[in-house]
Amino acid sequence: MSVVNVMESVVIERLDSLLADADCCKCERCKGDMLAMALNSLKPKYVNSHKGELFSRIDATKYQNTIDIDVAVAKAIEVVSSSPHRD
Ligand SMILES: [Zn+2]
Repeated sequence: MSVVNVMESVVIERLDSLLADADCCKCERCKGDMLAMALNSLKPKYVNSHKGELFSRIDATKYQNTIDIDVAVAKAIEVVSSSPHRD
């Protein structure tokens, strides 16, 4: 029995999309920092992983254009890219 956070796949999608236009480091480490920061500032959306794949597709469409997600992702890009690779 386990659950998945469907917000994660939505944020990954938005992060890739917003990073395409951003002039900053796009290595795996920075993207990981951005992903964690954005997800920490958003309300998670957990579903039973048994139904996870179906739900994540529905929810991805539903949340794709949510302004809160873009704001959180844009903020995470800004913060991480202003001091990349810090420990
Ligand atoms: Zn980097």
